[in-house]
Amino acid sequence: MDRIVIIGAGEAGTRAAFALRETGFAGSVTLVGTEPHLPYERPPLSKPLDGAVQMKQICGAEALQGAGIAYLQGVSAMTIDPDARSVTLSDGGALAYDRLLLATGARPRRLACPGAGRALDFRTYADAESIFSRAIPGASVAIIGGGLIGMELAAVLRAKGIAVSVIEMAEKPLGRAVPPRFAARLHARHEDEGVAFHLGQGIAEITDDAVVLSDGSPVPADIVVSAIGVVADMVLAETAGLAIANGILTDNCLRTGDPNILAAGDCAAVAQPGGGHMRFESWRNARAQAEVAARNLAGGSEIFGAIPWFWTDQYDLGLQVAGLPRPEHQSVTRPLEGGELEFYLDGGRLVAAAGLGLGNSVAKDIKLAEMLMAAGIRPDPAVLADPGVNLKALLKSARAA
Ligand SMILES: Cc1cc2nc3c(=O)[nH]c(=O)nc-3n(C[C@H](O)[C@H](O)[C@H](O)COP(=O)(O)OP(=O)(O)OC[C@H]3O[C@@H](n4cnc5c(N)ncnc54)[C@H](O)[C@@H]3O)c2cc1C
Repeated sequence: MDRIVIIGAGEAGTRAAFALRETGFAGSVTLVGTEPHLPYERPPLSKPLDGAVQMKQICGAEALQGAGIAYLQGVSAMTIDPDARSVTLSDGGALAYDRLLLATGARPRRLACPGAGRALDFRTYADAESIFSRAIPGASVAIIGGGLIGMELAAVLRAKGIAVSVIEMAEKPLGRAVPPRFAARLHARHEDEGVAFHLGQGIAEITDDAVVLSDGSPVPADIVVSAIGVVADMVLAETAGLAIANGILTDNCLRTGDPNILAAGDCAAVAQPGGGHMRFESWRNARAQAEVAARNLAGGSEIFGAIPWFWTDQYDLGLQVAGLPRPEHQSVTRPLEGGELEFYLDGGRLVAAAGLGLGNSVAKDIKLAEMLMAAGIRPDPAVLADPGVNLKALLKSARAA
């Protein structure tokens, strides 16, 4: 077993390539990436510094070379033949592999209304450049979709003084991943900053100068951005005959139905202990899965069990969510200086935590909450709610017990 091919040079694919070397794997590692850049991080695209899009590289060419990773930049994998264990490439070449990692990520979901071709996507560096080069003061921008990416973009554009409308089909923005308490606070902050919301509205049409809502009213827009979510990129997996659903289906060790092919990151739907599969779109998930996938590509059988975690920055506020808060959980809030934490208990057990505060102010507490979750504690809700009780001390006593 000495040839590993990784398809997709995003967070998951690139991290897996380096993690393979960290495990001591000495065979060949080839990283195939469609985009015409060195591997870069996506989160900074919606958090530009001083209004300029950031190209934050995951690694430089020297680091790739130093680790002995062959990076095929601007090359797409076209087909996989699982029986022959080979991959065909867009440059006419082919790669033989012993083990393969699919880290193909996700693609923007497409609008289906008339005029949809005028809407810009927001996934890649090229997308970000296209949006920010057009969104200049005086322009009006309509963002379709009030999820995390749409709301981050709204915050960045308002900070530049640009007129922003957010159009969302649900009655409230941020309804999918953000606990309602914090979604409402972020929504209110956007309203205070002057974002115009059109909620509970679908799109009838996009014209040359407006987005026409399902009730017939036009929202003027020089620029239209579609931020209605992503779908896992499963084209290669599907044509290779691998099982897919909401993502490429894997077992809890990130192996697909073909023992030589693993999947990680935004494209992977991973088997869960209680049944079913979960796909989780976040930067840390991509990295954590990549590390487990690398060890398993190199011969291990490690189960992926990291606690889901994501963050978002909007204006001067930072939100972090660890675990999967659900409406049926018992919630306990704790005030913080400049923010608030919320804990979620399931049958008395701490299963999730979220925090919203200035900048990075909730980071330490969310980290401690993650450790408390991993320790499996059943805290007294009154203790969790009390800002006078130090979470570190709680962790210490939980561990001692
Ligand atoms: C604007 C933006 C902001 C974000 N902000 C946050 C944030 O604040 N917090 C957070 O937790 N997460 C955030 N995310 C999500 C996070 O960036 C993703 O979850 C993470 O990048 C997923 O990594 P990935 O490697 O699985 O997929 P991707 O980053 O999508 O990488 C997959 C790569 O594979 C390539 N590829 C696909 N098919 C082929 C093929 N056939 N051949 C070769 N290459 C191929 C694609 O071109 C792509 O470059 C953000 C995402 C975006 C777009």
